[in-house]
Amino acid sequence: MPPIPDEPDAPEPSARTGFAGNRLERRSEKRHANSVSEALADPRARVLLLGEGRALLRPNGAGLGAWFGIDDADAFGARAEHAVLLGYRTDGAPALAAPVDEQSLAEGDLTAIDYRSIHMQGLLDAETLGALAQGAALIAWHRSHRFCSRCGHQSAIADGGYKRVCGHCQAQHFPRTDPVVIMLAVAPDGRRCLLGRSPHFPAGMYSCLAGFVEPGETLEDAVRRETEEEAGVRIGQVGYHASQPWPFPHTLMVGCYARALTETITVDDELEDARWFERGEIRAMIAGAHPDGLKLPPQGAIASLLIRDWL
Ligand SMILES: [Zn+2]
Repeated sequence: MPPIPDEPDAPEPSARTGFAGNRLERRSEKRHANSVSEALADPRARVLLLGEGRALLRPNGAGLGAWFGIDDADAFGARAEHAVLLGYRTDGAPALAAPVDEQSLAEGDLTAIDYRSIHMQGLLDAETLGALAQGAALIAWHRSHRFCSRCGHQSAIADGGYKRVCGHCQAQHFPRTDPVVIMLAVAPDGRRCLLGRSPHFPAGMYSCLAGFVEPGETLEDAVRRETEEEAGVRIGQVGYHASQPWPFPHTLMVGCYARALTETITVDDELEDARWFERGEIRAMIAGAHPDGLKLPPQGAIASLLIRDWL
């Protein structure tokens, strides 16, 4: 029996990450050639309008809304022939995402805001943010995979957006989800964790190390390789903790804890610095009271979850 947590009602760690709140019923086994046109014909349908890395938002009561009715989506230049079906809400209404031209993204009371800012500033509710992660990843994949990678001819969207089919050689192409391991290495004494900072981080911010999983590699091996490459620290056992959809452009962050076997740190070119942090120092960083002004990634980021749950 695999180690499944024995508290059935305890919230999953993944549920506490940003972009993880998607509750649409995907009905993936029922997708077919006309899924999108049938959904668009439903007057209850709601559509996310997505530019290149930005979503169209408009005032909605006290906050901002991202869902548009079909008429509004048409009026704002949504390209229905490129729409993807995300799923169905609990009342059965279909939810879709459609690309829009950047030029139409700032008319009247509409604003186009990049996905990262929407997440960091908490501009949307968790369910909509989760649906946005799904739509953003799919739309980004279609934008960059218009041509068949086998023969070079144009391919066409199919099955609600979860496939492209080449009109020339009939090859089928499927959306990508790229796994990235993100890990908190814990020192052999169990009392310190390893954090690093990349040159493009905000001033003073330290975070978990991370890297793409390579072909033919297990998640555990990727954690060991990346930690050794980036910080020179050797890793023994690795345990999975949580995952996070990360639509930049279509990544799945896989959060792990890693037991360090060595302590000496040698940073590579990717990092500006890496070092061990004791629990007291992490507490100070969370409280915004670190003597050197050091801080952690914001809550909602899986790195923050790994660090806080370890603490
Ligand atoms: Zn082809």
